[in-house]
Amino acid sequence: MGLNCSAQENPQAPPSPNVARLGSYPDWSQLEKFQRTMTRSEFAWLLDHCYARNNKEYSGLIEVQYDRALIAKQSNHPGAGYFILWFKARAHDEGKAETYWRDTYVMNDVPANSHRPLQDVKIAIDPGHIGGDWVQWDDRHFALGVNTIEVREGEMTLRVAKILERDLTALGAIVQLTREDNNPVTALRPEQLSAEARNYLLRKRMIPSSKAIKSTTKKMFAISSEIRTRAEKVNQAFQPDLALCLHFNASPWGSRPSFRSDNHLHILINGCYSRWEISEDDTRFEMVRRILERIYYEELDLAKELAETMQDETRLPNFSYGGRSGKAICDNRYIWARNLLANRSFMCPVVFFEPYCMNHREVHARVQAGEYRGLREFDGVYKKNIYQEYADGVTAGLVNYFRRRR
Ligand SMILES: [Zn+2]
Repeated sequence: MGLNCSAQENPQAPPSPNVARLGSYPDWSQLEKFQRTMTRSEFAWLLDHCYARNNKEYSGLIEVQYDRALIAKQSNHPGAGYFILWFKARAHDEGKAETYWRDTYVMNDVPANSHRPLQDVKIAIDPGHIGGDWVQWDDRHFALGVNTIEVREGEMTLRVAKILERDLTALGAIVQLTREDNNPVTALRPEQLSAEARNYLLRKRMIPSSKAIKSTTKKMFAISSEIRTRAEKVNQAFQPDLALCLHFNASPWGSRPSFRSDNHLHILINGCYSRWEISEDDTRFEMVRRILERIYYEELDLAKELAETMQDETRLPNFSYGGRSGKAICDNRYIWARNLLANRSFMCPVVFFEPYCMNHREVHARVQAGEYRGLREFDGVYKKNIYQEYADGVTAGLVNYFRRRR
């Protein structure tokens, strides 16, 4: 059922909620447990410093008042009212938020273990994209040069994930991969999603041309449905302490794949929501929940440690977001805030990796070389295979982080 037909039948009926692709209208009462757990100044700081691109992006949707925040329940229907979030008073009850934060994420009760520094830390690893025959659905594959193997991001991230699974487990961690092979985790298939894609376009007041339906269907399958299914699986049963989203980057090319001289590294934490995103009821709910869970602090702390070791291993320069989609939130130039379905769907701190440009000549050569043992020379420098190097950067950062925290 689409928004248009119900509106025609009953002009008084409230409009269908504005939600993200394959999203659903949130249960605002789930935020009740956060009443009076955060001061106004902390809420406003997290919102402005990290989560919203700027304070114009949430005007009319979130209103920060003296003792409460009013959060619109349904952005396209003022009659649905507001969720009222009461702030914690500054002067009294100081211990409350601290207790909540400890209960949620700090693992102080686990004793330090010098041989197994990651003992009992539950880590979800999300190898970005899908591989095999499914690469056609997310456009993260290309061939360059004669007699070369095709570069497929979804298969490369799985290789790194398998190495990490082995190495982090040896250090005591409990690891779960969101996918074990190069097949989708979602049971839905693109052909089942085209009607939903058309409804989505209508809801967003976009013209449902066959081209738009096709590209929306693709995203609904390879991103929305796939990532939501992975996150559900991990959030419900595994409930990790942290999640690692593994990706490889690529620099933009023209009409067909080509080599580029850019090669860089950046690490993302969740933030930088646009007005379009904050207007979606489910996205706004998820953003506010992440603020109230104080995920920012541990996410940033982890990212700083991981940026250090990833830099040491890969020797790559930092990447900069010139436009608006990424936001600098600290003086570390490798770390950016950005809102992606993957880094807001896992209900724990999420670190999202974007090292190496796959269409850089040396990276391409290293992908062709595969998982060799020892070192090999590339352009005068001896290097580990690219998958082990990536995994070693992640492992070293996690070891440093948990050695320091415990
Ligand atoms: Zn990717």
